[in-house]
Amino acid sequence: MEFAILAETFSKMESTRKRLELTQFLVELFKKTPNETISKIVYLLQGKLRPDFEGIELGVAEKLAIKSISKSSGIPIKKIEEEYRKGGDLGHAATKILEQKTQTTFLVEDITVERVYETLFKIAKLEGNRSQDMKMKYISSLLNDANPLEASFILKILLGTLRLGVAENTVMDALSICFTSEKENRKILELAYNVSSDLGKVAEVVSSEGLDGIKKFKAILFNPIRPMLAERVKSENEAIEKMGNEFAAEYKLDGERVQIHVEGEKVVLFSRSLENISSFYPDIIEKIPETISAENIILEGEAVAINENTGEFLPFQELMHRRRKYKIEKAVSQYPITINLFDILFCNNESCLDLSYSERRKKMEDIVKENNFVKHIPMTIIKKESDIVEFFENSINAGSEGLMLKMPDKPYQAGSRGSFWLKLKREYQNELGDSLDLVVIGGYFGKGRRTGNYGTLLLASYDEDEDTFTSICKVGTGFSDESLDQLYQILYPKVTIKKNPRIDSEMEAEVWFEPELVIEVVASEITLSPIHKAARDHIRKGAGLALRFPKFTGKIRLEKTPEDASTNEEVVTLYQSQKKIAHDKSLM
Ligand code: ATP
Repeated sequence: MEFAILAETFSKMESTRKRLELTQFLVELFKKTPNETISKIVYLLQGKLRPDFEGIELGVAEKLAIKSISKSSGIPIKKIEEEYRKGGDLGHAATKILEQKTQTTFLVEDITVERVYETLFKIAKLEGNRSQDMKMKYISSLLNDANPLEASFILKILLGTLRLGVAENTVMDALSICFTSEKENRKILELAYNVSSDLGKVAEVVSSEGLDGIKKFKAILFNPIRPMLAERVKSENEAIEKMGNEFAAEYKLDGERVQIHVEGEKVVLFSRSLENISSFYPDIIEKIPETISAENIILEGEAVAINENTGEFLPFQELMHRRRKYKIEKAVSQYPITINLFDILFCNNESCLDLSYSERRKKMEDIVKENNFVKHIPMTIIKKESDIVEFFENSINAGSEGLMLKMPDKPYQAGSRGSFWLKLKREYQNELGDSLDLVVIGGYFGKGRRTGNYGTLLLASYDEDEDTFTSICKVGTGFSDESLDQLYQILYPKVTIKKNPRIDSEMEAEVWFEPELVIEVVASEITLSPIHKAARDHIRKGAGLALRFPKFTGKIRLEKTPEDASTNEEVVTLYQSQKKIAHDKSLM
C-alpha cells in the first residue's frame, strides 16, 4: 500500500481533534488498506510498532534524524537546524527543507507502508556500536525516496512526535463501522481487545475473518489481559445497597498491581497499564514458580513494600524506588516487598475469566501455596453491616487503603470498570470524599526555594467522549522538595513547544507537557468555573468544573496511563454527591 495514502490521512487527522471526524478519516483509510497491512497501520497510528507490552521502542534522537535529512538531501546540517528552531517540529521542518532539495536521486524505490514499517522495525532492533551509522543509513534511504509530506511523517514516527490524538476507542469505533454491520458488534471487538491488549491483532482478524474470527479471541499466556477495575462507593451503607446481602471483601493494599504470567521457570510481569515490568521485581520472578502447582498460570496481585522487621505494609511511594534501570539488586534488598495475590485469570491452558469470583478465589488458594513472600490477600465474606465496619477497621490498621468489595457470583470483566467490584477507601471520609488522579498538562516555574523546578502544575481530567484532557485546576501545594525534583525529572522530557491538540484548556501555562503523567490530588470541593474546561456546559451552560484548594498527595501514578485518569463523568458524580451531602446536612 502506498505510504502517501497514510501520510495524507495523517495530515488530515492532525487538523482536527473531533472524535467523529477522526473516526471518519480512519474508516476511509481502513477501507483502502489490505488485510495484511492493517495491523501495521493501527500500530503506526498510535506512534508504535507493536503493542506496548512487547516493549519495542524506536529510540531515534533528533541529532541523528537531522544528520539523516542532511545526508539524503544534500542540505547542510546548520540550515536544517535553523528551520527546525523556527517551528519546533522536525517533521514540518523536513517538509520545508525537502521542498528545496538540491540533490536529485536516481534509483527511486516506491515508498510503501510495508517498506516504511519494516525499515522502522529494523531500526528499533539495532543495538551496539555501529548501530548509529546503520540507523542513519536506513533513515536516509527512506527519506531519499519520500516526498516532503511522507518524509515529515516518517520523521515524526521515528522521533515519537506523531500526535494524532486517536485513542483505542476511536480506532475500535472505526473498525466496527468498517468491518461489522451492527452497533452491537462494537462490544465484541472490545472483548477481543480486552483479552489480547493488542489492537493491531484485533484489526487484522476483523478485517480478514470478520466477527467469527473475533469471537475466537482467548486469553493467552505471556500476553497481558486488560485489568478489571472497580467503581467507588463512599460509605459502608452505599456498598451494602449495591452489593446485596452477601459479598466478599478484601483488603485494598496500597502498592502496584502486577499481572504475573508463569510457565515452569518462565515468569513475565505486567503493570496495570500493561507494560512489561519484569525487571523491577526480580524477587517475584525468582520466588513465584515454587509456590505454584500448575503447568501454567496467570495471577494478579498487589506488590507492596513492607517493613521487614515488623511485616507492616508501607505506602505506595516506597515502591517507586524500584523503578530504576540500574542497581536493581540494591533496591530489592533496600525496599523489600510481598506479593499479595487476589485473582487467577488463567490456569493449565484454560481461561478462568468466566469463572465466578468464588470459584476463582478457591482455585487460587488451592493452586498457589502461601509463604513469607507470596500471600493471598486477606478476604472475608460480609453478611451484615457490622462485618464490613469491622473488616474495614482491621484493614486500615494493617496499613491498607480500605476495602475492595466483590460480587461472589460474577466473572472477571477484563478492561472494564463495572459494579461487580467496588472500592471503599479511607480518604472517602475526607471533605471531597475522594482523591482524583489527574493528568499534568502544564507547568509554571517556581520561585524562592522552588527556583529551577515547576512550582505549580496545571492539571486535567479525562473527557472520554471527546478523548481530550480538560483543565480542572492548578496545584501548588503538597509538594516536598524531593517530589518537586522528581516531578521535574519526569516532566522535563515531556515539554512541548506547541500545546498537544488533545489538551483542552483556556488557561495558559508557562510550559506545556505531553499529557502523559498522572498524579493524585485531594481537594476541599468541586466548584463551577468560568475558565476551566472539565465537564464544560454539563452542570451550567458556559461553566466548567474546578477543584477548590487542591493538594498533591505525594503519589505520582506512574502505573496509570492518561486515559486512566479521573473522567469528567466521575468529576460530575463527585460534584453532585457533594451537593447532596450539603443538602442532607442542611436538613439535619
Ligand atoms: P486507585 O486509584 O484507587 O488505586 P485504580 O484506578 O488504580 O484505583 P481501581 O479499580 O479503581 O483501580 O482500584 C483497584 C486497584 O486497587 C487495583 O488496580 C489494584 O492496584 C489495587 N488493589 C489493591 N488491593 C486489591 C484487591 N484486593 N483487589 C483488586 N485490586 C486491588
